[in-house]
Amino acid sequence: MSSAACIDALWLPYTQMATAPSPLPVVGASGARIRLADGRELIDGISSWWTMCHGYGHPHIRQAVAAQLETLPHVMFAGIVHEPALSLARRLAALLPGDGKRRLDRVFFSESGSVAVEVALKMAVQYWRNRGQERRRFLAFRGGYHGDTLGALSVTDPGCGFHDALAGYRVPQLFAELPRDAATRDALDALLAAHGREIAAVVVEPRVQGAGGMRFHDAATLAAIRDACDAHDVLLIADEIMTGFGRTGTLFASDENAVPDILCLSKALTGGTLPLAATVAADQVFAAFCSDRGEDAFMHGPTFMANPLACAAANASLDLFEREPRLAQVAAIERQLRAGLAPCRALPGVADVRAIGAIGVVQLDRPVAAGLRPAFAERGVWVRPFGDIVYLAPPFVIEAADLTALTTAVCEVVAAWSRQAPSASCPLSTP
Ligand SMILES: *Cc1c(COP(=O)(O)O)cnc(C)c1O
Repeated sequence: MSSAACIDALWLPYTQMATAPSPLPVVGASGARIRLADGRELIDGISSWWTMCHGYGHPHIRQAVAAQLETLPHVMFAGIVHEPALSLARRLAALLPGDGKRRLDRVFFSESGSVAVEVALKMAVQYWRNRGQERRRFLAFRGGYHGDTLGALSVTDPGCGFHDALAGYRVPQLFAELPRDAATRDALDALLAAHGREIAAVVVEPRVQGAGGMRFHDAATLAAIRDACDAHDVLLIADEIMTGFGRTGTLFASDENAVPDILCLSKALTGGTLPLAATVAADQVFAAFCSDRGEDAFMHGPTFMANPLACAAANASLDLFEREPRLAQVAAIERQLRAGLAPCRALPGVADVRAIGAIGVVQLDRPVAAGLRPAFAERGVWVRPFGDIVYLAPPFVIEAADLTALTTAVCEVVAAWSRQAPSASCPLSTP
């Protein structure tokens, strides 16, 4: 049997290289389909880790990147700016939610979601320092995931399995249950009352916790978090790296009742085409960095910050949200996911079936889902179950027939598992 060890020079993510099955060689992709070297096509049920919202190879993004390649593929971003970054920042500021108190209108670019979170954490700590307060801790939520770098990892739920190997190295933070009811609201309030003066910010994935298990919460829960932060004078960081750009049914998951002080974007920012991330600060956060003291400046600067190719792809992606009916497509996907996954509800071993926007989840009663991966590729679909969930997060442009193929495959694979009810649990629980 071939194993991942056979691909010699490569080291794959979240993978036990000694025993993992050989990865599938990909030679191309278009729309919602991935083409394999052996000629087979897989329907992509997870949009390349939730990035590929307009499908692979959308001509408008391809043309924008090609044109940018001709004029300015890259230039450093200190002391120099360029139009693709400026127009992208202005467009993001105009699209993000705001309220009477906060306008999210200062955009700091980086190249990955984890770095966008690192930047947000550093901004929050220095915001308080610039205002004469030492605050070095963060409060995050059980079930949350914020990235693999050390700072982002520190606010990821230690129970999610991403940092078992680093337990002694991780910066200890505070964790609370999401405030879904009176008891958890009181618990959050008590934690903030006890530690508020040490806490720089609360960090949350609005409406959907992604890599921690695709768990949803409602807008009232999110608003309760905003209210608690206001009551205890703590900043709120919204990690919209997964939820941003339509995935939950609206362009952003944050709304005017829960406007964060800092918001992180990445995955679908360039329509899945190139790596780019943004940490967007509200005006009053930015103001704390503006003074006549050099040490108040924000000391962070990724080498490839605001790469023009990536900014051009992101601008083209925003064009597509304006020109093509993406949010209507997401609404149709949600209806089809609900109907298509509903048969799983009755199966033994299935704990829950749920959908929001273009995310559909079948939750099993045990963390065995990764073991189901091979069954999907065999059926011509690309789905990567993890932990206790089998989920779909397709490109928004997927055709109804392809989405039916995906929901049918999920129902068949889960039904087969449910009949055999295998007890072996799979150690790989990451997405
Ligand atoms: C994927 C993700 C990250 C990390 O982004 P990378 O680009 O993988 O570093 C952070 N937060 C959330 C909510 C994510 O889904």
